[in-house]
Amino acid sequence: MSDMDELLVAIDERQHELLELLGTLVAYETPAPPARNTAGLQAFVEQYLQGIGFETEHWDVYPGDPNVVGVKMGTHSGEYRSLIINGHIDVAEVNEGEQWDNNPFSMVVKDGLVIGRGVADMKGGIAGALFALKLLHEHGLPLLGDVIFQSVVGEEVGEAGTLQCCNKGYTADLAIVVDTSDLHLQGQGGVITGWITVKSEQTFHDGNRRDLIHAGGNLVGASAIEKMMKIVQALQELERHYAVTKSYPGCKPGSNTINPSVIEGGRHAAFIADECKLWITVHYYPNETHEQVAREIEEYVLGVARADIWMKDHLPTFEWGGTSMIEERGEIFPALELDSKHPGVQRLAELHGEISGEDAILDVSQTVTDGGWFGHAGIPAVIYGPGELKHAHAVNERLSIDQLVTYTKVILAMIHDWTSAQKESA
Ligand SMILES: [Zn+2]
Repeated sequence: MSDMDELLVAIDERQHELLELLGTLVAYETPAPPARNTAGLQAFVEQYLQGIGFETEHWDVYPGDPNVVGVKMGTHSGEYRSLIINGHIDVAEVNEGEQWDNNPFSMVVKDGLVIGRGVADMKGGIAGALFALKLLHEHGLPLLGDVIFQSVVGEEVGEAGTLQCCNKGYTADLAIVVDTSDLHLQGQGGVITGWITVKSEQTFHDGNRRDLIHAGGNLVGASAIEKMMKIVQALQELERHYAVTKSYPGCKPGSNTINPSVIEGGRHAAFIADECKLWITVHYYPNETHEQVAREIEEYVLGVARADIWMKDHLPTFEWGGTSMIEERGEIFPALELDSKHPGVQRLAELHGEISGEDAILDVSQTVTDGGWFGHAGIPAVIYGPGELKHAHAVNERLSIDQLVTYTKVILAMIHDWTSAQKESA
């Protein structure tokens, strides 16, 4: 048997260890929101990485929510291909009154499934990758290129733990984001949220309304709420226009939506509303950028405002993005365009085919992940992880053990295979 065959058999034989590791990850309660609860789990991950030959560092993204990055330098670092494995350690929230069959943080093994908060999104992906790295380490199979393991926080609440890793300069010839993809190889569309504000510099009492809107009232002013209604209407028209004019292979038509998700305005019943703010959530296609989409929306809304008798002198203002839904009420998930011709994507697809016995499926995620930050940073990336999206965030979140095992084999083979090839000469 080759070294690789031995290792793949070991995953079957030591499946109970893999499940035990996943159970340990699940037992750390890391839902976001509320977040700020990952320090214990991150310390566990950091120790685990150190135990299998990684140099690590950690830093607080927010107090109580540190990122951990481990680096294992290859024996031929710089000469052979490097790999980033990225996963988020926070999980979806558990709400009061959810009808779980078991404690969501005490993983249950039943009928070929594991059940618990985060098994599909995405502690399964993290457990499999850590276990694969452990087996490679124990087997003493040297890695020629570098492997970087990023355990990040805040993904569930739009906090850009992965952006911070990119900003710190971590880079590689390929990044695999092991988030929920049902073992499809995926890119993704992007999301940006923004606030649109309509504001009057004057504040009028409710008793002035007659003079604002009736013949001979002679008072020029407006309700910011009523003006915002025009903007909401305009955004709906733009959304329909996008549905008709934009498309991307693998994305359902019209998935580039503009959702008016939150509206806030007015003081109380004795005033004409002098300010109104609208929070919008914009989905765009993998071949677009958030900068470009935000600019298009601003231009369109400003066009509508300029045609309005009052708004032309009180143009709406825009604030886009943010790095936390908790702290700033704003987020960006950049898009990731999957490059099916990239050697890393091709090799991962081949290994998936060989090990699972099924052809790899390349498509577009129906959601957003940290994969976009790699696209944004110019690092070739692919989303590939166990678990189905319909189970992520769900009550009795589940993951097929067979799929977890297949994934662990593929990721092990990929780590070894990819780092055993020389970099393309520059
Ligand atoms: Zn996820």
